[in-house]
Amino acid sequence: MLDILRRIVQEVSAATNLGQALDIIVARVKQSLEVDVCSVYLVEPGKERLVLMASEGLNAESIGKVQLDFSEGLVGLVAQRAEVINLNNAPSHPRFKYFSETGEEHYHGFLGVPIIHHRILLGVLVVQQREERRFGDDHAAFTITLAAQLAAAISHAEISGDIESLRKETSRPDVLIRGISGAPGVAIGTAHVVYSKANLDVVPDREAKDIKAEVRQFKDAVTQVQQEMLLLKERMGGVLPSEERVLFDAYVMMLSSENLYDRTIELIEAGQWAPAALRDTIRENANVFEEMDDTYLSDRASDIRDLGRRILMHLQQSQTLRTGYGKIPVRTVLIGEDISVTELTDIPPEFLAGIVSERGSASSHVAILARALGVPAVMGVPDLPVSRLDGREVVVDGYSGRVHIQPSEQVKQEFMRLALEEQELTDALKDIATKPAVTLDGIHIPVYVNSGLLADINVMAYTASDGIGLYRTELPFIMRERFPGEEEQYQIYRQVLESVAPRPATLRTLDVGGDKPLPYFPVEEDNPFLGWRGIRIMLDHPELFLTQLRAMLRASVGLNNLQILFPMVSSISEVREAIDLVERAWNELLDEGVYAIMPEMGVMIEVPSAIYLAEPLARLVDFLSVGSNDLVQYLLAVDRNNPRVADLYHSMHPAVLRAMVQIIDAAHCHGKPVSVCGEMASDPAAVALLLGMGVDHLSVSLAGLPRVKWVIGSFSKIQACELLEEALCLEDPLEIRKLYNNALVDAGLGGLVRAGKY
Ligand code: PEP
Ligand code: MG
Repeated sequence: MLDILRRIVQEVSAATNLGQALDIIVARVKQSLEVDVCSVYLVEPGKERLVLMASEGLNAESIGKVQLDFSEGLVGLVAQRAEVINLNNAPSHPRFKYFSETGEEHYHGFLGVPIIHHRILLGVLVVQQREERRFGDDHAAFTITLAAQLAAAISHAEISGDIESLRKETSRPDVLIRGISGAPGVAIGTAHVVYSKANLDVVPDREAKDIKAEVRQFKDAVTQVQQEMLLLKERMGGVLPSEERVLFDAYVMMLSSENLYDRTIELIEAGQWAPAALRDTIRENANVFEEMDDTYLSDRASDIRDLGRRILMHLQQSQTLRTGYGKIPVRTVLIGEDISVTELTDIPPEFLAGIVSERGSASSHVAILARALGVPAVMGVPDLPVSRLDGREVVVDGYSGRVHIQPSEQVKQEFMRLALEEQELTDALKDIATKPAVTLDGIHIPVYVNSGLLADINVMAYTASDGIGLYRTELPFIMRERFPGEEEQYQIYRQVLESVAPRPATLRTLDVGGDKPLPYFPVEEDNPFLGWRGIRIMLDHPELFLTQLRAMLRASVGLNNLQILFPMVSSISEVREAIDLVERAWNELLDEGVYAIMPEMGVMIEVPSAIYLAEPLARLVDFLSVGSNDLVQYLLAVDRNNPRVADLYHSMHPAVLRAMVQIIDAAHCHGKPVSVCGEMASDPAAVALLLGMGVDHLSVSLAGLPRVKWVIGSFSKIQACELLEEALCLEDPLEIRKLYNNALVDAGLGGLVRAGKY
């Protein structure tokens, strides 16, 4: 059975459209189970209605015609109950309904199985037998397993619009695809698919007609790509530090290497046309890298392929085979399977309206860059039908992580209104952003910003934030090809500290591992989120830790605004060891004549054990900072980057509320302040919640700063405490969310409700 199942699934996966997939299913199931009929009914989107979409055994004319409400017939009953129905004599069942077109009056044995994807009923799979029989357990198990596998394929095809073409409807506006919020904001624009520019794998062999012309075109194409790389390097001037931009120089050199440049010309001169010669050399070069044991080097294979695609694009343009990138839409929504940073920076910023990537998460490079550029992004969109999207109108809802393809006029109007409101709000809040955040009853809540890119550091000096509450030092590490040395780190940290001095800047020690791997420091683990990450790596590598701590301390000399934060702490001993290393670095520097003042130190509360240890931890350090992104993930056992469980990720979960109260109370017992630096602090409804808990500071995204200050200024501490009391009596995260959304509306901040996480 397992073999048969595997074969059917393989065949179905290879089908080019839903119609073909359904035909394969009904034919193979009928044959494998030796039954007389196998049919698939699908639910009409948005209706409690089923349509017969494919059948082996029932009259062919009835396919597409037979329709039934959930309240009709046995198939309707399967849908209504969303459970398996197995009958030996279907016509004798009170719910049996005879559809004359099908000719099913002859069939008695009936087994109906619901097809369910992520709790949503997509259809019903039915097998029938002429004679009376109750299907055995193995038949039922087989059909249930198959139906479960089918669900994903049907859902994918639905997104692609295949169901609609099967139903012969002309168009289906507003297909909704769900992913993960990568960067907040909404955008309406035209999809520009990154993959469409050039595909080396599909280049056919062809004889070069004019060898000289082919060589010339190839050389021109390489020169153009080299110029593009230099342009990209320049364009990233304000965003990436110069050390990171040398990567583009490496690409320029790679392009003129003997293995790539000379070898391609050699192949052209041997008679191959330029695109195929290029295809072969790119493949050879990529293979060489791929076979290397070092993960960093083997990962370079994708850089080679990317360069190859770019050369091909120019070749295709010169050979007028394809337009490749062609004209970039004025409001480009960049869509791709796995958008890279170079692809993003390829689009002039004034054209870039939004980003949608099938792979990646909120902590991917591209998402971080999108946030720094203020461009809404949706990441981790499963089954994104990339090849069908180019040129379509799309709405990117970076708040809820949703994408509307070909939005209906109504949806479009709604988002246009929202975008306008956002703009008006941003303009109106400019004033608020420059003032301190003070509650209605006069309590000042400092609002810091989160940072990690030089792009935000540049504007930091002009912002009205109270300092930097979280500088993620791993970003400069990730963007390099090796660990940065003490001097390199010093330069970066100095810039960061200077940008806000005399206001404080909290530098977090390296927090890699988990979902933030370093390309040059590969860690292979079955469960990286529970593995070697954050402070664990740094304590195991004191040489790396000391280098970072020395660089931080040196950078603070004369500025005295450094605070050091330790991530992913799960035990008290880790903090003791970390403090010892800070003291060691400080003493070493003192011996060398460098007089840094001892910085304040804090611990991130991100894992459940740290909640229960909040009190002894607070005794040891100067402040606590709640990393709600990880805390929610570990507390609820919900992967923060997995779109399948994104609906379960609730920062307003009652368990999270209780944990936060415990942390804040524990810290206050020792007179130590608590900050929240995860995304929760940028969520307007959660800000009201945190105020009630007595949080001392917040650290938020730069874009979220004005809104957060507005919320603080619109509530009194007493009001927030009353709300919290009510919230703690609620059991459902959505009810808690509703309570705070209503409170925002009552406080005249209805415009902020959408900005919250759902
Ligand atoms: C967090 O976990 O909330 C946090 C701020 O850290 P990061 O998102 O970098 O893991
Ligand atoms: Mg974290």
